[in-house]
Formats: sequence, structure tokens, C-alpha cells
Amino acid sequence: MLGTYSDLRTWPQLAHIATDGETYGHHKPHGDMALAYAMDYIEKNKLARLTNYDEFLKRFPPTHEARIFENSSWSCVHGVERWRSNCGCNSGGHADWNQNWRAPLRDTFDWLRDQLAVTFERRGGELFRDPWAARDDYIRAILDRSPNVVSAFLRDHAGTTVTPENRVRALKLLELQRHAMLMYTSCGWFFDELSGIETVQVIQYAARALQLADEVARGKHLEAQFVERLAQIKGNLPDHGDGKAVYEDFVKPSMLDLERVGAHYAVSSLFEDFPDESRIFCYTVHRENARSLQSGRARLAAGRARISSDVTGEATEISYGVVHLGDHLITGGVREFRGPEPFNATHSRYWCTKRTMHVPARALRISYRISYECRGASIPLCLRDADSIAGRSRLHTCDFGTYPCAPASVTSRVSSGESYWLTIRISD
Ligand SMILES: [Zn+2]
Repeated sequence: MLGTYSDLRTWPQLAHIATDGETYGHHKPHGDMALAYAMDYIEKNKLARLTNYDEFLKRFPPTHEARIFENSSWSCVHGVERWRSNCGCNSGGHADWNQNWRAPLRDTFDWLRDQLAVTFERRGGELFRDPWAARDDYIRAILDRSPNVVSAFLRDHAGTTVTPENRVRALKLLELQRHAMLMYTSCGWFFDELSGIETVQVIQYAARALQLADEVARGKHLEAQFVERLAQIKGNLPDHGDGKAVYEDFVKPSMLDLERVGAHYAVSSLFEDFPDESRIFCYTVHRENARSLQSGRARLAAGRARISSDVTGEATEISYGVVHLGDHLITGGVREFRGPEPFNATHSRYWCTKRTMHVPARALRISYRISYECRGASIPLCLRDADSIAGRSRLHTCDFGTYPCAPASVTSRVSSGESYWLTIRISD
């Protein structure tokens, strides 16, 4: 870096070296430490002054005007076609592949962007004096999401203090716009295949924007139209079919809502001892009530927790019950908390003996199937009603066959009567 300066020059010198952020730590382990050392060395030894363009140009106003060669890039000889057409630029290694998917995917994103702009202007107009100015200034809140900074940002753009409900709506609208921009992330277009991880990632951004549009403005119809467009886009790998298949196989399953965050928390709580308040990525989970039981290899965790997003401020309270039968077998249920009475009624009745775990059937009603690669596993199950557990009544035994490959069928069979309990026998 220092080699770029020359003592022969009599005018102010600006040295600039630009590298990808991913160089530091990702491509080059500990590259960030090397960079920090270099900066420190320059500063400590007063070899140069660290600055930025703004400061430099204020101190030394420009003397020449440069013209930018528009629509040019370092990695596509066709200009910027690499990001929007089958220009032939690719990563190599697949001579028979094409990038015909780029143009229609880009068209689809442009269509979505324009649809979302209408939603944003209409809904944002109810909350902000100038929605687009708020969007451009949103970087303030992204860089520092502490409540005071976000409140000041919203007040500046709303012209008044924002109610808690409008605060969530406002932040969701701004996140919608942020994701509508993220879906144009360069690497999504740079590589070769529609189902590649980079392209799937940009479709995930689009999906998040769609999810937010649905939440703030009931934009469900947009998703259907988006998927219809994706269905027309073909990749190179027949296994992944078209864009619709990519959406259904890779994008849809990755979509989160607060209940799913709760499901993640519930499963993790079998293995981790969480404090009363814990952070899971950009969510905060406040545990209100929890209980766990162990019987041999089997474990059960049940409780109630408040989940909130640190980004939008949206929050919900959930109740959950999950069972780990050993190995990779995990089954459970998560639902919105419905008040203390039904919760306490079920919660107090979990019990287990040395070989058997009894769980109220309702607690196992499966909102989301939480199971990891459970094929081939077989757990014998029987079902008996609450009276039989008290020793007064007959035992109903049902053969559920292979479980938990089809937990939904178990649910439907036990949920008809509220007094039924699901008894899971743990066998060797
Ligand atoms: Zn090109």
C-alpha cells in the first residue's frame, strides 16, 4: 500500500486499494487480523493518514472531471450482461450449460419490485411523510437497531411518535424494501445455475419481501403470480426442474415466522440449558415457564415463551411440547399461547416412568413437523385414554406402524377426543 506513494510528487496523494469484504476471514482465514495490523502499522508510524473520499475531497477539491464508462464491469466483457442474460460468461466446467434462466428471473424480479413499490407507497404513505425518503434513510436504523435510534428514525419520518402497532408495520414495510433490493445481490446472477446456492439465496430474499407484503397488505396473490412466473424458468439440472420446483424445494422450507422460531427454540431446549432470556440470531426469546423430563434416552421439554423479532419488533407468545426419543427422532408441537387455563391443564399432566412417556395428545398436536431424516425408524406406540392411565379403564392399543415418518396421521387419530393421551413406549 505504501509503495503507491512517491516523494517525487508535490501534490496530495490518495492511495486506494479495494478488495471484496469476503476476502477477510472467508477466503483468507484471519485476513481481517492482517488488515487490522497493516492499518495500525500505518497509523502508529504516521506513514499516511487514513481518510475517506468525503474528507479528502473537502480538503483537496477536485481539479479534473472523470467520465464513467457506463454499464461496465471487471468480469463480463459484454458489459453487465452477466447479471441479466445468457451472455456466455460463466464459472466454467459445464460446457453444455446455459444461463437462459437469467433474463426471465430478472424480469420476474423487476415485476415483483414494481408490485412491491405500489404496496410500499400506499401503505408507507399512511405512516411516513415521504416513504421513499424513509426507505433511503433506513440505513440509520439498520446500522444501529437499538430502540432509541429506531424510535428517533421513525419519529423523524412520521413527523410524530409512532404507536407500537404502527412501529411494527413501518419496520415491516422498510424490511420489505430492503429485501426487494437484496434480491438483486450480484452473486445471485453471476454463477451458472438456477438452483445454485447463490441464486436460491436471492429468491429467498424475494420470498421474504413477499411474506412481508402479505403480512402488511394481504399480498398473498403476489406469491401465486411470482411462482407462476418461476414455473416458466428452466435451469440446467433436470433434477431441480424449473424455478417453481426450486422455490418449493429450497426457498419455501427456509421461510420463517415466529412460531417456527419457537419450534427451533423448543427443539434446542432439549439439548441446551437456555437462560430466561436468550438470543437466537435476530430474535429474542423470553422463557415464561418451562419443564423438562428425562426417561432413559427419551426427553421431553414443554413450556411457554415469548418470541420477538429484534428487527421488526413483532412478538408472539407460544406454548410448546417436544419429545426426543433418542437418536434423530424428534417430534413436537408449537402453537400460539392460548391463555393459562388450557396451558396449565396440559402442562401439569406430563409425566413419565422409567420406560414410558405419557404426553397429552393435545400437546403433541403437530403444527409443524419437527423431524430430521427419520426414515426407517420404527417406534411402537399405543394409545389409551386418561381413565386407563388412572387405572380404571381399558387400554386401547393402536398400531401406528412406522413412526414418526407420518406424525400427522398420529395426530389425526388422537385428536378426536380431548381426554386421549399419547403414550410413547420407549423400546430398545
Ligand atoms: Zn458476459
